[in-house]
Amino acid sequence: MSETELSIVIPCYNEELVIQESYKRLTSVLKKTGVTYELLFVNDGSSDKTEFILGELAKADACLKVISFSKNFGHQNSVSAGLKYCKGNYAVIMDADLQDPPEVIPEMLRISKSENANVVYGVRQSRKGESFFKLFTAKLFYRILNRLSESTIPVDTGDFRLVDRKVIDTFNKLKEKNKYIRGLISWIGFKQCPVNYTREERFAGTTKFPFSKMFGFATNSMLYFSKKPLKFAILMGFFSICLGLIYLAVSLFFWISGVRTMVSGWTSLIVVIVFFGGVQLLTIGVLGQYIGVLFDEIKERPEFIVSRTINMEEQSENE
Ligand code: UDP
Ligand code: MG
Repeated sequence: MSETELSIVIPCYNEELVIQESYKRLTSVLKKTGVTYELLFVNDGSSDKTEFILGELAKADACLKVISFSKNFGHQNSVSAGLKYCKGNYAVIMDADLQDPPEVIPEMLRISKSENANVVYGVRQSRKGESFFKLFTAKLFYRILNRLSESTIPVDTGDFRLVDRKVIDTFNKLKEKNKYIRGLISWIGFKQCPVNYTREERFAGTTKFPFSKMFGFATNSMLYFSKKPLKFAILMGFFSICLGLIYLAVSLFFWISGVRTMVSGWTSLIVVIVFFGGVQLLTIGVLGQYIGVLFDEIKERPEFIVSRTINMEEQSENE
């Protein structure tokens, strides 16, 4: 058993406006619980004062630890790094912007003990201050992914969750890159319990997930968690073959019965060409996506590169 009971893993990318407040709120909540803890901030290649502020705070508090990346590697890789380096018997993954309220952490700890749960995941009851577009796409995404995915992933949950050492160690053994963390943790299994919470408004600053990042995140999770798009491609191929055959049969029928309307059928010809062309491009596109994922995996590049750590024992590996 480790001396640290609880690790809080907080990925941050250009969060200079919120980091101090997050630190304050977390510290005041955690001090009250009486558990030994560490705050592990993962600075995901921020270009603002995030690293400087963390450095200053770390001087006065040995509980605050920092891992800085050499560049921006993305939210999911930051969480992976946090889970790899954290020392606690439990870890809580949360955002830096206080959208995941620190006050829920004691509740998570309580549930994990009373229910003997290995994972306590936050379920968003309501989400304040987020655009209609974000809410709509998020809802759609979780539902489509669940339909497509080979394993069920609870809907309306983000990465805000508590995991115990057993889950952390299992997670750290997974070798795949581009980890879709909430999916993987639910795939790992063991006992998982929900805790309801209200997702607050971002404390300050703007979202670090523009549409391009959100889209990348959504396609990655689909590709890693489902082979159904490939099956769908086969189904479409099958469908278009049937359509072609029906068209052939109809043409033959008209030809045999002496009706010669088909010769003038330029429009129908174009329709068929465009349709089949679309189906082919789409199918090749889907295949290409999966090959791209394999390509990423095969390169075996690290998920992140650490440039600097603060208040941590030096790690020999630079992964
Ligand atoms: N984040 C990160 N790397 C990135 C983008 C975001 O570490 O490339 C962090 C960010 O600092 C925050 C968390 O991930 O702590 C969630 O990001 P954000 O609040 O901007 O996303 P939203 O809540 O708008 O979906
Ligand atoms: Mg946020």
